[in-house]
Amino acid sequence: MNIKAQKGTKDILPEEIENWHFIQKAAEEVFTKANFKEIRTPIFEDTSLFERGVGDTTDIVNKEMYTFEKSDRSLTLRPENTAGVVRAYIEHNMFRQSPPLKLWYFGPMFRYERPQAGRQRQFHQVGVEMIGIQDASADAECIKLAVDFLKSVGLNDLLVEINSLGCSECRKEYKEGLKQAIKPFLNDLCEDCKSRFEKNPLRILDCKNESCNKLFEENNLKEKVSGIKLCPECAQHYTKLKEYLDILNIKYKENTFLVRGLDYYTKTVFEIKSNNLGAQNAVCGGGRYDGLVELLGGQSTPAIGWAMGVERLNSLIPQIEEKKLDYFVVSDNQPEAIKLTSKLREHGFSAEFDYNTRKFTKQLEKASKSASYAIILGEDEINNNYLTLKDLNTSEQKKLKFEDLIK
Ligand code: ATP
Ligand code: MG
Repeated sequence: MNIKAQKGTKDILPEEIENWHFIQKAAEEVFTKANFKEIRTPIFEDTSLFERGVGDTTDIVNKEMYTFEKSDRSLTLRPENTAGVVRAYIEHNMFRQSPPLKLWYFGPMFRYERPQAGRQRQFHQVGVEMIGIQDASADAECIKLAVDFLKSVGLNDLLVEINSLGCSECRKEYKEGLKQAIKPFLNDLCEDCKSRFEKNPLRILDCKNESCNKLFEENNLKEKVSGIKLCPECAQHYTKLKEYLDILNIKYKENTFLVRGLDYYTKTVFEIKSNNLGAQNAVCGGGRYDGLVELLGGQSTPAIGWAMGVERLNSLIPQIEEKKLDYFVVSDNQPEAIKLTSKLREHGFSAEFDYNTRKFTKQLEKASKSASYAIILGEDEINNNYLTLKDLNTSEQKKLKFEDLIK
């Protein structure tokens, strides 16, 4: 029997883990500075949380969820984490704290998608949620935080795209206009778009199907439907966001066709793209979801957040070399070697020894691959209570006492 990892899942191997630690540490540092606290919610939830919270007209709920039954309950592996965080917010009465509540998370998500470059079935997201603030300063802070985080891992060549979807009132008229423009070629669109037409026409603009995109171009759809006409309140919110972004020196592009895949967005939506990612070029997506807390049973509460694909992010970062050990103990005396190694570790150094007593030359070969220094512990060293320290870079050697070494 030859069992392999499931299609669309990947082992993260020891030689790749430095990058993951680097990204995780950067997240913790940047978010903590901005007063965001980490939250860890379960990987599976009640299926209805996502049906309600993500929306039953989305691709995620319609075809991408890993759902299973256990003791008559329908459970689903989380396809995203905003719904879970909002569920926890309501369940633990976090609204009692004075707003905003600023949270971040890092963890695996699951979507049954067609695996391809930049698209897996188990992937990771790092994200933030800022709950309780209506003012556009929160939107700007969230976008700034994403940019700061990306910069902290060394990414500068990024494109921030923003749009406002307004409120349900603003969208009404727009949806009608969009439907009128699409109607003439509706029959030629994909099955998904046909069903979106009635349920959520806005989402047709988010279609990933190439033939649909070709039809949009041929029919000048994008010229026919200009952006959503915002009501005065939504328009003011959007203007304020842009002012804040200018104050924060964040360059952005307005994209009136940016609608995002999820149902719960209101007002601000944004994406951050990288030119180096190819077709799957979005690394970060987010937006405001003022209706979600209430939809999931809480009090009406404004909120905004974003999520980033960690695999996509990682593919933009050069591979970080594995860290070398401080010391490798080379000896043909196992008891002395294991004792010295553990003493070094107790004193805060990373250390290893050879579990097989092999020739010193073999051990030194292994040492130079994995450590900065070799500590040679031969018969003379043991009898006269000293160590020989060998710098594996320069091959310089010197004799010294253990006490001097740890100084
Ligand atoms: P896409 O349009 O690429 O399908 P999405 O709109 O489904 O993205 P979100 O749900 O907003 O994406 O997730 C935010 C980010 O998570 C994406 O920008 C991407 O970087 C990452 N992401 C989403 N789905 C996957 C996946 N299947 N594999 C790897 N990363 C993903
Ligand atoms: Mg998707």
